[in-house]
Amino acid sequence: MAKFVYSFSEGSKDMRGLLGGKGANLAEMTKIGLPVPYGFTVTTEACNKYYDEGKRIGKGIIGEIYEHLDELEKVTGKEFGSVDNPLLVSVRSGAVFSMPGMMDTILNLGLNDATVVGLAKLTNNERFAYDSYRRFIQMFGDVVLEIPKTKFDAIFDAKKLEEGCKFDVDLKTEHLIDIIVKYKDLVSREIGRDFPMEPMDQLMEAVGAVFRSWNNERAILYRQLNNIPHNLGTAVNVQSMVFGNMGDTSGTGVAFTRSPVNGEKKIFGEFLVNAQGEDVVAGIRTPQPIDQMAEAFPEVYKDFTRIADLLEKHYTDMQDMEFTVEKNKLFMLQTRNGKRTAASAVKIAVDMVNEGLIDKKVAVTRVEPGQVDQLLHPMFDAKELKKAKKLAKGLAASPGAATGKIYFNAKDAVDAVENGKKAILVRLETSPEDLAGMVVAEGILTARGGMTSHAAVVARGMGKCCVSGCSELKVDELGKTLTIGKKVYKEGDYLSIDGTTGDVYDGNLKTVAPELSGDFGKIMKWADEIRTLKVRTNADNPRDAQHAVDFGAEGIGLCRTEHMFFEEERIPVVRKMIVADSERDRREALAQLMPFQKGDFKGIFEVMGDRPVTIRLLDPPLHEFLPHTDEEIKELSEQIDVPYEKLAKKVQELHEFNPMLGHRGCRLAVTYPEIAEMQAEAIIMAAIELKKEKGMNIKPEIMIPLVGFKEELKFVKKTVVETIEKCFAREGIKLEYLVGTMIEVPRAALTADEIAEEAEFFSFGTNDLTQMTLGFSRDDTGKIIKNYIERQIFDNDPFQQLDQTGVGKLVKMAADLGKQTRPNIKLGICGEHGGDPTTIEFCHRVGLNYVSCSPFRVPIARLAAAQAAIANEK
Ligand code: ADP
Ligand code: MG
Ligand code: MG
Repeated sequence: MAKFVYSFSEGSKDMRGLLGGKGANLAEMTKIGLPVPYGFTVTTEACNKYYDEGKRIGKGIIGEIYEHLDELEKVTGKEFGSVDNPLLVSVRSGAVFSMPGMMDTILNLGLNDATVVGLAKLTNNERFAYDSYRRFIQMFGDVVLEIPKTKFDAIFDAKKLEEGCKFDVDLKTEHLIDIIVKYKDLVSREIGRDFPMEPMDQLMEAVGAVFRSWNNERAILYRQLNNIPHNLGTAVNVQSMVFGNMGDTSGTGVAFTRSPVNGEKKIFGEFLVNAQGEDVVAGIRTPQPIDQMAEAFPEVYKDFTRIADLLEKHYTDMQDMEFTVEKNKLFMLQTRNGKRTAASAVKIAVDMVNEGLIDKKVAVTRVEPGQVDQLLHPMFDAKELKKAKKLAKGLAASPGAATGKIYFNAKDAVDAVENGKKAILVRLETSPEDLAGMVVAEGILTARGGMTSHAAVVARGMGKCCVSGCSELKVDELGKTLTIGKKVYKEGDYLSIDGTTGDVYDGNLKTVAPELSGDFGKIMKWADEIRTLKVRTNADNPRDAQHAVDFGAEGIGLCRTEHMFFEEERIPVVRKMIVADSERDRREALAQLMPFQKGDFKGIFEVMGDRPVTIRLLDPPLHEFLPHTDEEIKELSEQIDVPYEKLAKKVQELHEFNPMLGHRGCRLAVTYPEIAEMQAEAIIMAAIELKKEKGMNIKPEIMIPLVGFKEELKFVKKTVVETIEKCFAREGIKLEYLVGTMIEVPRAALTADEIAEEAEFFSFGTNDLTQMTLGFSRDDTGKIIKNYIERQIFDNDPFQQLDQTGVGKLVKMAADLGKQTRPNIKLGICGEHGGDPTTIEFCHRVGLNYVSCSPFRVPIARLAAAQAAIANEK
C-alpha cells in the first residue's frame, strides 16, 4: 500500500523527490545521530493526491498522520492537546527545490486556551507561554486563514501604544492575554467561525494550507522563473517544537559552514538570544555575529562547530544551517547546500578539491555558469550602492557597472574621452554608426531596444556594461537632454548604470575591479579537461579576438565582415560601391576596399594563429550602409561625386519594406558576385601573405550566409572557389580552406542533406533561424516577448535561450541530415545563443563540434560545456 507519511527516522537525503529538500535533510541528520527535534514528513505525493481529490486530505493520509503523531508523542513523552504536558509542533513546507517565499512556517501549533495554561505551568514562565500563543494565532491567522497580517499588527501596535511599551518584550502577560482575546475576535469576524481550538483541526488545516501554497501566485511565478516543473508538489514537515525564547540560556540562529560571500573557511552566521526562529529573518531585533555565540554559549558553540564540520563532510558541500538553543541545549532544524556568490563558489570548489573532499569533476559542477559573469566585470561598491539613488530600471543587457558623464552621440563621447573624461553613451537606441562612441564609453544606456538590440549585442561582444530598453527615459538626442520623471539631465552630468541588474543611478558611484583569482583559472583548466565541445568566439577585429583568446577561445566561429565596412575611411567607398551603376564602377570601388579587408583579416589571423577562423561573407541589406536624411544624402553626393538626384533615387530604389527577408546574405553575392570575389580574395591573400611573411599556416573557413537552397550555395561557392584558385595560380602557393554555410533559413535546415553536398561545414545562425521559425522579428519584438513572458505564454526569451522544442528540432534534424551526407561535417552554432548554458547543453547533446559566443561569454561557455559533458556522461 502506498505510504504518504514518513518519520524522520525512516527517510534519508536521497529521498528529496518524495520528502522535499527540508524533510530529506531532517531525516538524514536524524539518521546520522544529530540532535533534531523529532517529527515526520507528509510526502509530495500526498500533495498531488490532495489536488487529485479536489483539495481534500484523504482518510488514508489522515490515518497515517494520526499514527505518526502517536509515535511522536511516545518519542517526546508529550501529548498533543494535553493540558498537563502539551506537545507543540511546527508545520513547515518543503519542496524538492527550495522555494523562498512559498509559504511561511507555523510555529507553536497545538496551543489553545487550555494548553497555554499547561505550557505556562510546565515552563514556569507565563509570559513565554502567552507570547507563544499570540504568535501562533497571528501566524496561523495569516498563513492558514489568510487574514491580512496588517490587521493583527494593528491590534498589537495599538496595545503597545496604549500601555506605553516601546518594544514587544515590554508587553506583560496580561497585555498579551488581552491581545489574544482581540486576535480571536478578529478571526471570528474575518472567517465567520471561531479560531480552531482543537489541535488536530489546527494540524489538518495547516497541512492543507501548505499544500495549497504550492499553487499560490508567488510560488507559480518562482517556478516559472527558475524552470521548476509545476507537478512536483510540496511536502509538509511536522516537527516537535523546541524553544529559543525561553530566556537568556536560549536562542536561535542561522549559519554557513564557509562564507557565502567570499568562500573563506570559517563559520559565518547570525544569532539571537531569547528568540524564536522567525525573529532572525524578520529583522525585529538585529542579530549578533555568530562569534558572540562562542562567548554566550561556549559549550553549545563547540558542539555546533563540531556538527557543522561533520555536516559539511557528510554532504561534501558548504552547508546553510538553522538551529535553536533551548536552555543550553543545541537542536538542528535545517541544513542544505548553501547559496553563494560566484567568488565564493570558486574558492570553495578549489579548496574542497585541495582538502580531498571532492574531485575536480564535482568542483566544476559547483560553479554556476550564469554566475561567472560576476567575476569578469567591474561592480559597484556595495557600500556606495546602499546610499545611491535609483532612478530607473531597464534591461540588464550586458553585465558590469559603469559610471561617467553622459553624452548623446558617438562623436561627443569620443571627444570627451579624448579630453580625459569618462563617458556613458546615452541613445534612444544605437546603430552601427555609434560604434566609435560605444568603444570609448564606460557603458551604454538606451531607451529602446531589447536584449538582442544592437546596443545589447555589441556591448556584450565588447564586454561592456549596457542597460537597454529603459523606457522610463525620455532621450532628446538633438537637445542633448535626458529626462527621468521630472528631473532633467544634461550632457556632462553624472549617471551610474548597472548592466547586471538594469538599474540606473544618479551620480558618480565608485566601482571595484573584478578579482580574477588563481582559483578561477584552476576551475577553467579542469573544465577544459572535461569538455568535448569546443568554444569559439564571435569577433571581427583583432582586439576582440585577443580578448577572446585571453579568455580561452579556441577559434573564431563568426567573423562578421560588415562592421569593417563602417569605418570612417571606408564607408564612402562602400557607399560608392553600392550606388554604382555598372559592374565596372562597382569593381573599381571594390578594388579600393580590398586592401582594407585584407588588412583586417591579416590582423585577425595573426592573433588567432593556427586556431580556425570562420569568416562570413557580407550579410546585411545594402541600404543599411546608405545615408537616409536629405542632408546626409547631400553630403555624400559631394563626397563621392554623384549628383544628388541620382543618389536620392538610388537610396529610394534600395529601400525595402522587410529588409531582413530582402536583399541580403548570399542573395547579395548572387546579384553581385564581384562582392564575394573581392572578399574571397581578401581572405585568401591575407592567409597567403602570412604564409610568405611569417610561415603561418592559416586555414580559413569561408561562410556563406542565408542559404536556403543548395543551388544558391553552389552558385556562390563556385565564385569563391574560382577566385581562390586564381590566387593560388598567381601566387604559386596553395593553402587549405573550407567553404561552408550558415543554417539560418528553415528551408536550409529541412534540406540539410542536400546542402551538405556543397557545404563543408554548417554554422547554425540561431538568431535568424529563431526569427524565421517563430516569425518574430528580433529587432522589433522585445516588447511583445516581455508581454508574452509576463502572461506566461513564453517561459523565457527565445532569442536568449534557444527554443529547443521548435528551433532546436530543426537544428537537430539539420545536424543529422548533414552528417548523413558528409559524416565528418563540422557543426557549430554562432547565434547569440552560443553563450547560453542551457543552449550549450543542447548543443552538446545533438553532437555539435563547437559553440561560438561573444568574447566575454567564452569562460561561461567553457564551464557550461564541461557541465554538459558531465551531465550526459551516463
Ligand atoms: P523557511 O523555509 O522559511 O526557512 P523553516 O521551516 O525553516 O522556514 O522555519 C523557519 C524557522 O522557524 C526555522 O529556522 C526555525 O528557527 C523555526 N522553526 C521551525 N521549526 C521549528 C521547531 N520545530 N522548533 C523551533 N523552531 C522551529
Ligand atoms: Mg529554514
Ligand atoms: Mg543571420
